[in-house]
Amino acid sequence: MPCGWRCLTEAAGLAHLQSTGTMSQAPQSALNESPAEQTLRLERLALVAERSSNAVVLADAERRVVWVNEAFTAITGFSAQESIGERFGILLARGSADTAAFDEFVRAVRDGCGHKREINIRATDGESRWALVDMQPMRDDAGVLTGWVLVATDLTNLRAQQQLLSLAVDGAGLGTWQWEVQGGAMHCNDRMLEVIGYQRSQLGMTYQAWNALIHPDDFAPWLAAVKAQLRNSTVALRMSVRLKHASGRWVWIMFTGAVVDRSGAGLALRVAGVAMDVQAQKALEHELRMAARTDGLTQLPNRSVLLHAIELAIARGRAQPGYQFAVLFMDFDRFKQVNDTLGHSVGDALLRQIAGRLQDSLRPGDSLIHSSDFAHVAARIGGDEFVVLLDDIRGDLDAEVVASRLIDVLAIPYTIGAHRVVSSASIGIVTSNHAADDADSVLRDADIAMYEAKRTGRARYVLFEPSMRLQVSASVALENDLRQALDKGELFVVYQPLISLASGQFTGVEALLRWRHPTRGLVPPVEFIPMAEACGLIGALGQFVLQTACSAFAAMPCLSDHASGLQPTLAVNLSRAQLLQAGLVADVQDALRANGMSPEQLVLEVTESLAAQDAVVLDTLHAIREMGVALSLDDFGTGYSSLSCLHELPVSFVKVDRSFVSQAETSAYHRVLIEATIRMAQTLGLGTVAEGIETEGQAGLMATLGCDKGQGYLYSKPLEAADLGVWVQSRKTV
Ligand code: C2E
Ligand code: MG
Ligand code: MG
Repeated sequence: MPCGWRCLTEAAGLAHLQSTGTMSQAPQSALNESPAEQTLRLERLALVAERSSNAVVLADAERRVVWVNEAFTAITGFSAQESIGERFGILLARGSADTAAFDEFVRAVRDGCGHKREINIRATDGESRWALVDMQPMRDDAGVLTGWVLVATDLTNLRAQQQLLSLAVDGAGLGTWQWEVQGGAMHCNDRMLEVIGYQRSQLGMTYQAWNALIHPDDFAPWLAAVKAQLRNSTVALRMSVRLKHASGRWVWIMFTGAVVDRSGAGLALRVAGVAMDVQAQKALEHELRMAARTDGLTQLPNRSVLLHAIELAIARGRAQPGYQFAVLFMDFDRFKQVNDTLGHSVGDALLRQIAGRLQDSLRPGDSLIHSSDFAHVAARIGGDEFVVLLDDIRGDLDAEVVASRLIDVLAIPYTIGAHRVVSSASIGIVTSNHAADDADSVLRDADIAMYEAKRTGRARYVLFEPSMRLQVSASVALENDLRQALDKGELFVVYQPLISLASGQFTGVEALLRWRHPTRGLVPPVEFIPMAEACGLIGALGQFVLQTACSAFAAMPCLSDHASGLQPTLAVNLSRAQLLQAGLVADVQDALRANGMSPEQLVLEVTESLAAQDAVVLDTLHAIREMGVALSLDDFGTGYSSLSCLHELPVSFVKVDRSFVSQAETSAYHRVLIEATIRMAQTLGLGTVAEGIETEGQAGLMATLGCDKGQGYLYSKPLEAADLGVWVQSRKTV
């Protein structure tokens, strides 16, 4: 039961409290105060002692307890009744769980001096508690001991929280640190030292010494953040900086901290916080940043890096008169063919080798390119498209010299596993003289010039000129026209007869597509077929030719009642894109059925390069062959495959390309090649057709060499269906 202030002051001896002021220093003015004022002050004092959550014990000079507050009972379990009159040493001894600590208090009492420390006490209910016990003697003016006052603060909850916190800090692998702002001393836990690799003895524990570990680039922002924290600590300091690890390398550490102690005047006294090793996250961030800037296959910078570099060059060009740059856009001739015939892994390896050669060639000091005078960026921006930005060149000539040397270097054959691949680069160049205002447009113009280089012969470079943009827009317009050509009925099919070279008899026709453009007139297929392939129209065009030709062929009585006994055939050209379309075999079957044709009446022509070993294409070719439709290998001699590959393809005819036939009479080399082709075809049981026979001499020679059939202007140009009927009739009558 609390006994109120009167009880307390009496118990402790009012005079002592007044004179010593140990519990609470009486203000100077107290000496002159009236009894009423004294009473009021002491009343307040007693109230505080009574209500305090700290345990308060007063004892007399013989250490006998004269007063305890309620908190004392709550913490220790000793009631006021059982405590009063008891020596506080005995109470302490009964309650102390730590004999060494208890002994310290005994010694202090014996010596008549105060003592303060944390001790582990055991309450009467057996529960262990931590308390900070402050024991002080009270003396009168003459220095005579008049009593003792003990104040015990219960630290149990605080300790539990601290323990939890340190468990969390340890578990998270966090370093902890404290900085005494005014004195400059640093404190940290072992983990903090472990993160930066130092022994405690190796590292000066001062703010200065720690600052010296920070990376020069990170120091200024760190200092700014710390200053902001010292000024205003409502938001915690949080920042990643690089620290010099004991091993000499830089490690990324994230510091979080806050001012935890300020003077009355607001001066920051102590900053405390945690530190985390974020090296792994930083490494990952770096990797991701690099991945976003690098082409994964070649490790060259990617399109976004290049565009940025071009933007910088354009800006510099504006700001600095005389500064010039060039963008070289290169595309590899035949790359698609390599990819299709030898597989993507060979294609990828080729791209890597190309990237390697580019880098080697452009490296400063390279003797081949002599490009050490200008900085450069070499990037891969897609498929087989590489771009080089030449910085600070002297003029167009520098770009041309680099381009022509690059063409030479890149044309050296590539060895990829067992394959020897020949490829060459076509390069389009935009120099600052004709550079557009933005990087995308510069790249587009360089691309246009590159197409011009390809169109005009490949393995060469072309400098961009603004007029080329008009050509491109013309071809875009043509592409749009082609999209509508089918619906508008501008497309039609012509038929060129094939003749037996031995008998001179008509044996069939080849269907060839034509486009009568409303303003341009007849557009040759070599111009619009590749365009249709590129823009996805070839499927529809191919269907149109197949259906038109089959129905025209079936409708021509002159073909079916041919007197020779030979069944004339209809040859239709197929493009690569068609061979990759899933429905082709079904389309062919439908066309035959719809027109009452037997499969033997149809021949499908595929070009040599396109028929090469692509698994999907080969499957389609076999399916066509199994249907009973014959395949003919068109333009033989112009592509990649050799005579030795002939037996691998399910073809029934080989068509010797016009470029060989036209030189057969004048070039022994071409004659020998034609002869070898015909022999090989005969050995394999294949028929042969000579394309583009224009003279009797060529016809005679082809017959002598053993070629079965001929086709060419000598016999007839491709004819419209109606004219073909007339032509066949006139031939019969010859
Ligand atoms: P190709 O299949 O090799 O067709 C033979 C080409 O040679 C035709 O050109 C024909 O007109 C031409 N020619 C025939 N005899 C002679 C001659 O004695 N002298 C000369 N100078 N030329 C002759 P055309 O019709 O211009 O076709 C060119 C190419 O376009 C064709 O070559 C073929 O690859 C493609 N093509 C034509 N029509 C189609 C089609 O319907 N579909 C597909 N995918 N391609 C087609
Ligand atoms: Mg053909
Ligand atoms: Mg041909």
